[in-house]
Amino acid sequence: METITTDLLVIGGGSGGLSVAAGASQMGADVVLLEGHKMGGDCLNYGCVPSKALLSEGKKAHAKGKASKADYKAAKAHVHKVIGTIAPHDSVERFESLGVRVIESYGSFKDAETVVAGDYEIKARRVVIATGSSPLVPPIPGLDTVPYQTNETIFELQERPDHLLIIGGGPIGMEMAQAHRRLGSEVTVIEGMKALGKDDPEAAAVLLEALRGEGIAIEEDALAAEIRGKDGAIEVEAKDGRVFKGTHLLMAVGRKANIDKLSLEAAGIETTRTGIKVDASLKTTNRKVYAIGDVAGGLQFTHVAGYHAGIIIRSALFGLPAKAKHSHIPWATYTAPELSQVGLTEAQAREEHGDRLEVVRFDYSGNDRAIAEGQTTGFIKVMIVKGRPVGATIVGHQAGELINTWALALANNMKMGQIAAMVAPYPTIGEINKRVAGAYFSPRLFESKMVKRVVGAVQRWLP
Ligand SMILES: Cc1cc2nc3c(=O)[nH]c(=O)nc-3n(C[C@H](O)[C@H](O)[C@H](O)COP(=O)(O)OP(=O)(O)OC[C@H]3O[C@@H](n4cnc5c(N)ncnc54)[C@H](O)[C@@H]3O)c2cc1C
Repeated sequence: METITTDLLVIGGGSGGLSVAAGASQMGADVVLLEGHKMGGDCLNYGCVPSKALLSEGKKAHAKGKASKADYKAAKAHVHKVIGTIAPHDSVERFESLGVRVIESYGSFKDAETVVAGDYEIKARRVVIATGSSPLVPPIPGLDTVPYQTNETIFELQERPDHLLIIGGGPIGMEMAQAHRRLGSEVTVIEGMKALGKDDPEAAAVLLEALRGEGIAIEEDALAAEIRGKDGAIEVEAKDGRVFKGTHLLMAVGRKANIDKLSLEAAGIETTRTGIKVDASLKTTNRKVYAIGDVAGGLQFTHVAGYHAGIIIRSALFGLPAKAKHSHIPWATYTAPELSQVGLTEAQAREEHGDRLEVVRFDYSGNDRAIAEGQTTGFIKVMIVKGRPVGATIVGHQAGELINTWALALANNMKMGQIAAMVAPYPTIGEINKRVAGAYFSPRLFESKMVKRVVGAVQRWLP
């Protein structure tokens, strides 16, 4: 067993771990990185990248008309080509070229100061746990008797499912539903509560209507109680007796933090119901150890893992106080139409701010570019308190791009006036952001008696 001493040990080579390792190493720290499975983690191999690549193929098939079984195979080939194109960026070779010592092994704590990985014992000034999450597979009776897919296997599937049953109507379930429907599968989504339940219900309804319009069956309040059948003939029975039949099953009910291999108790690191317990500076209950990204049990997105990495660099490398806040973190669901959110939803804002809340909205049907492109479904609404946005919800074409303006506004506590001052090129979908700011100021200008009196007086004085 070789003993290694280092400044920083990063456990997990996914979105969060790679960002910390690259940043710390380039800033002169001695860094060791452990990855027990695939460099790039979930996002590259089983998450963001393959799902967006498959959605893109679904979009092409949808534009073309009817998709064939060969299109499905070709779509999967595209998925793997995209992963292969991005993979070198996350590879062992690249990280070694940045000066990181990469050990391709799972790590686990031996004691509060030592991590064991393969033939190595590593002692580090600071440790960052970035081990991510895995698909949560609940113990539904019968599930262990039928073959099922998760996000870790579905992108490998080559034969198009005739009828895909998806248990779980969250963003992952919905993205997979639309991609498969557009590639020619029948799709039934089985959701125990409300589909897209974490999003604004009004915006979610627009997306759900569009998905249903494409032929996806979305069954809500359908808690899966029993699963039976065999490969090619699977039945899911809901608690209320409804039975859904399909050929393949995808489990997409949520995520669980990857902590099993870590022996956290040996290092005095406590956990919560959702992951590793951290404070605002992402420190665990062992003060030398941080946890970031999905394993920290908060918002589970690649950009959050990346944001956490920045906090760690400030804190662990420069010893500066750095706290993570999450009120300005956006997210998006990349279906068509897209659905995006930053800050408070309307319901959350109303609860927090009561009568001080103003909500303004603008419909895609009022945007000339959206009309030109036949993309008039959707709206934006912005929640405003004392002239500053506290949240924005967008459903429609490119909603995931449009939310960037509001993510900037919330991150910098900007005023609505600063959004209204922007000149957007005509005709762009992005004009929606300016127009919604206009919708905030218009009543103040056009319905103000004071403004009318001033304009009247000025006009009388003008030569
Ligand atoms: C289908 C799907 C689609 C998604 N789409 C998006 C999206 O569009 N946008 C978005 O922002 N997010 C998306 N996500 C979420 C995103 O993938 C995760 O939030 C992100 O990967 C989390 O990064 P991470 O660094 O915390 O973990 P990961 O990227 O999962 O990396 C963790 C790594 O740690 C390794 N590991 C685990 N235990 C150990 C150990 N003991 N020792 C050493 N190594 C270990 C794992 O093998 C893994 O490589 C999606 C997720 C899924 C499942």
